[in-house]
Amino acid sequence: AELDTLDLVVLAAILFGTVAYFTKGKLWGVTKDPYASSLANASGAKAGKTRNFVEKMEEQGKNCIIFYGSQTGTAEDYASRLAKEGKSRFGLETMVADLEEYDFDNLDTIPEDKVVFFVLATYGEGEPTDNAVDFYEFITNEDVNFTEGNEPALGNLNYVTFGLGNNTYEHYNSMVRNVDKALQKLGAHRIGDAGEGDDGAGTMEEDFLAWKEPMWKALAERMGLEEREAVYEPVFSIVEREGLTKESPEVYLGEPNKMHLDGTAKGPFNAHNPYIAPIAQSYELFSVKDRNCLHMDIDISASNLNYQTGDHIAVWPTNPGEEVDRFMNVLGLSEKRHTVVSVKALEPTAKVPFPTPTTYDAIVRYHMEICAPVSRQFLAQLAAFAPDAEARAEMTKLGAEKDYFYEKISLHHLNIARVLDIVGKGQKWTNIPFSAFIEGITKLQPRYYSISSSSLEQPKKISITAVVESTQLPGRDDPFRGVATNYLLALKQKQNGEPEPCPFGLSYELTGPRNKYDGIHVPVHVRHSNFKLPSDPSKPIICIGPGTGVAPMRGFIRERVQQAKNGEKVGKTLLFFGCRKSTEDFMYKNEWEEAKEILGDNFELITAFSREGPKKVYVQHRLKERAEEINQLLEQKAYFYVCGDAANMAREVNTVLSQIISEQRGIPEAKAEEIVKNMRSSNQYQEDVW
Ligand code: FAD
Repeated sequence: AELDTLDLVVLAAILFGTVAYFTKGKLWGVTKDPYASSLANASGAKAGKTRNFVEKMEEQGKNCIIFYGSQTGTAEDYASRLAKEGKSRFGLETMVADLEEYDFDNLDTIPEDKVVFFVLATYGEGEPTDNAVDFYEFITNEDVNFTEGNEPALGNLNYVTFGLGNNTYEHYNSMVRNVDKALQKLGAHRIGDAGEGDDGAGTMEEDFLAWKEPMWKALAERMGLEEREAVYEPVFSIVEREGLTKESPEVYLGEPNKMHLDGTAKGPFNAHNPYIAPIAQSYELFSVKDRNCLHMDIDISASNLNYQTGDHIAVWPTNPGEEVDRFMNVLGLSEKRHTVVSVKALEPTAKVPFPTPTTYDAIVRYHMEICAPVSRQFLAQLAAFAPDAEARAEMTKLGAEKDYFYEKISLHHLNIARVLDIVGKGQKWTNIPFSAFIEGITKLQPRYYSISSSSLEQPKKISITAVVESTQLPGRDDPFRGVATNYLLALKQKQNGEPEPCPFGLSYELTGPRNKYDGIHVPVHVRHSNFKLPSDPSKPIICIGPGTGVAPMRGFIRERVQQAKNGEKVGKTLLFFGCRKSTEDFMYKNEWEEAKEILGDNFELITAFSREGPKKVYVQHRLKERAEEINQLLEQKAYFYVCGDAANMAREVNTVLSQIISEQRGIPEAKAEEIVKNMRSSNQYQEDVW
């Protein structure tokens, strides 16, 4: 038979994949995803990676595939947990899959005795996560076409869905809702409820736990599965490498991928491959002792990175030494921290989330969210490995009782090592297989920051404005400290020669693996966003940016100053800024005065200091006071920008704007709300909230 074009394309792809695999991509300068290729080697993935998931399931003897659309790692985590539970409790042959790695035009060829899970986070303004964009466009397309052309198209498909969203956003869980709707329309059969977790209410984990029990019951019934007693089976094997030491050149000490290990790191820099950027300068923005807010200028001139005003920069943090030590200590790994290990997936479809061979120290310091909230389910799982009966009983209770768990753990922001320390009363937990941590703890995630510089003014320098996370909580001696912001604070202290030790006794490996970040460097990448100024600078803009929400607004205003300096006509620019006190946390005060000198009456700063008067005043109150002017500007098609706190401020601003429009135009509130909605869909109203 003759080969058609498609066959040739497939053959060529397999050939390329095979050669790339055997040459480890060396000949090709493989660009797409260097991290994945180094990980693929590490986890023993086979050549000629298929994008056909049905074939892959067949080949691997799987009857359950769990796709995830994940931005910050939580959805990916939930997918892994479901896979593990499906296997251990119900004997399902599960595999976890990144939506980005497969095609979906053959979704209709899935046999009826298999099940497909979709664990889908909604990102930003109701958008799919980066890895789910193609899938989402495909499945929600009105004219979607499948291989077989059945009627209904997806009559064979049994599926399960869970969505991760945030109710403070306009488009709550829109990803999972829209995908579910599309699948139903195509005749697919959902098993259990379409679950929804709410990060806004802080109930994500509990929503997930509450959803999955009835779902498993429904699934077991549908597929005729018998529940059995779950026994822990490791997903990864950890092999200690006697011939290697941390000095061996092939050992990863925190380098994110092979290029970084070999010292040949080059772009494209992205979520798999950070650029180790020099910090040009850093300084404190607050004038109080007990709170910190950092300004940093990151130099990208020696890279091929670029950005546009309004984009986001991602910072790749490392864990503080004290928490790494605590973790090592409670597991009895302190002596072995520099032992070299290879980690292999025992299950061919599982991926090792970091490159190996590496050391325990590097895994814990560079690749695991060891400071993050602990999951109740994880504690229940670890109960079996407790050092004594008392600790086992306590772990079981914490795992089973939601309110008890909240009171003992969540309320104090305890991380996993602190929990084990407290529950085990200082004993070491040496029975837990290390694989359980690789499976149960999210991989260390980059943190995003709204870029606070203008690419017109400084195309090769990216500014960050970040408030340092530090909260005194009940029942703890030391305050809870955020990972990335305290790491940045340490870098700032080092850069400015401030007294060691680093912030609050926390020490960081600031010079990075093998001193590769020596000097003052931070690993970063850039994520493009839709938060953008109007292309016509003469259009008026209204910016609402209290606290660090001022970050992208600073970028916008500096951009407009630069445009004015370049002789362009710049429209009215209003900035609503709020903070506690004019004497404490009034960021960039001098810069606003400089902007005023250039933009004149076309720039106005409206401040709200919440702790200066008898009553708390916030930006939304100031907005209301300016109702008439705001309405006039909107009638002149002013762009309206909101950045900062998603939970309260952004919502209230939205409400106040509707009220202003309603009052000023003498129309019912419902009509005004409709107008605001339309402003959002036409990009006249833009949010950058977190
Ligand atoms: P983390 O360690 O990540 O902690 C963050 C929060 O998680 C804590 O406050 C707490 O609520 C919770 N948490 C963590 N560990 C635990 C635990 N063990 N138990 C219970 N709760 C826990 N921030 C800025 O300052 N400026 C910006 O311009 C900015 N822009 C952003 C833009 C985008 C698009 C996004 C998504 C976020 C932005 N952020 C910004 C927030 C920023 O990304 C970080 O979330 C923030 O700096 C905190 O990071 P961290 O690592 O210091 O804290």
